[in-house]
Amino acid sequence: MSMTALQSSFADYIRTYAGDAQYDAPLAPLCSFKIGGPAEILYTPKNEEALLAALRFAKEQGCAWKILGNGTNLLISDAGVRGLVLRLKEGLTDMALGENGKISCGAGVSLKKLCAAALDAGLTGLEFAYGIPGSIGGAVYMNAGAYGGEIKNVLKSVRVIRPDTLEAIERRADDMDIAYRSTPFMQNGEIIVSAVFALAPGDPEAIRAKMNELMGKRKASQPLEYPSAGSTFKRPVGGYAAAMIDQSGLKGFRVGGAEVSKKHAGFVINTDNATFADVMGVIKGVRAKVQEKFGVTLETEVEIWGEH
Ligand SMILES: Cc1cc2nc3c(=O)[nH]c(=O)nc-3n(C[C@H](O)[C@H](O)[C@H](O)COP(=O)(O)OP(=O)(O)OC[C@H]3O[C@@H](n4cnc5c(N)ncnc54)[C@H](O)[C@@H]3O)c2cc1C
Repeated sequence: MSMTALQSSFADYIRTYAGDAQYDAPLAPLCSFKIGGPAEILYTPKNEEALLAALRFAKEQGCAWKILGNGTNLLISDAGVRGLVLRLKEGLTDMALGENGKISCGAGVSLKKLCAAALDAGLTGLEFAYGIPGSIGGAVYMNAGAYGGEIKNVLKSVRVIRPDTLEAIERRADDMDIAYRSTPFMQNGEIIVSAVFALAPGDPEAIRAKMNELMGKRKASQPLEYPSAGSTFKRPVGGYAAAMIDQSGLKGFRVGGAEVSKKHAGFVINTDNATFADVMGVIKGVRAKVQEKFGVTLETEVEIWGEH
């Protein structure tokens, strides 16, 4: 297939920067739901300079961009994504241990790697995050959390690129309004380049034991054998989405290849080549039933890229 004008200009423009460009690249393999059509341009910058160059290109051309981390909280349309998808997972992967329990890492570092570094250094505070399959960028963007912990409790500062001026600035976590699955980045569109975490000295054996205990809980309660994007819905005020879905008799509710997990009602899983429309069908069916039974409007935690 021949390249679009946008693809050709990007190929010319980006040649001298450190990064990997692909065109009409399928996104399904890059996200945990295993659903999603192609990106017109998929670019993996290997450093901040290359990321900035790609953003500058997008601004000059007036084309849309999206940031992809490890794709574990995303439902992507089968129609794919026009414009530029910037994949930070394989680039921006520097990590460094600082003084006084600080660890700084690039947005593309996996939470798994950060947790392992904290354990190695005998630092406590990130045990809750062990088993969350995201990247640092995605975890900060989502204020990821589990088992009573959340990223904001250990986040010290974030380096971001502003989408309007493309200026890189530091933001202190204390100055940001971060709450349950809610961060300023969801509104301001800033791109997280790196983050600094502040942890406390701890007993490595106790840290390891906690991580293993929480991983055991995940394996026992979550349908990890199927593609999914984790909890589909946010926790509503005064209740738990999974309990409401279960009590609405929706475990096993299916549309095409998508299903409410029988093991954990909070997860929609892809059991059999589900399409974007299948998952959206399950989401809509669940929201309607829970609204009818409990008068509660469930909001999706999963980010949806596409018409819905
Ligand atoms: C089996 C399973 C279990 C899970 N368990 C949990 C859990 O216990 N707790 C929890 O909170 N989540 C959980 N999740 C969801 C998911 O792992 C987290 O939300 C994670 O933080 C998403 O990170 P990611 O890198 O995969 O982000 P992606 O899915 O790639 O992106 C999510 C959003 O973040 C944005 N984003 C990503 N990187 C950046 C960046 N550098 N700058 C700006 N925006 C960015 C994207 O544009 C997108 O809007 C689970 C998912 C799965 C599949």
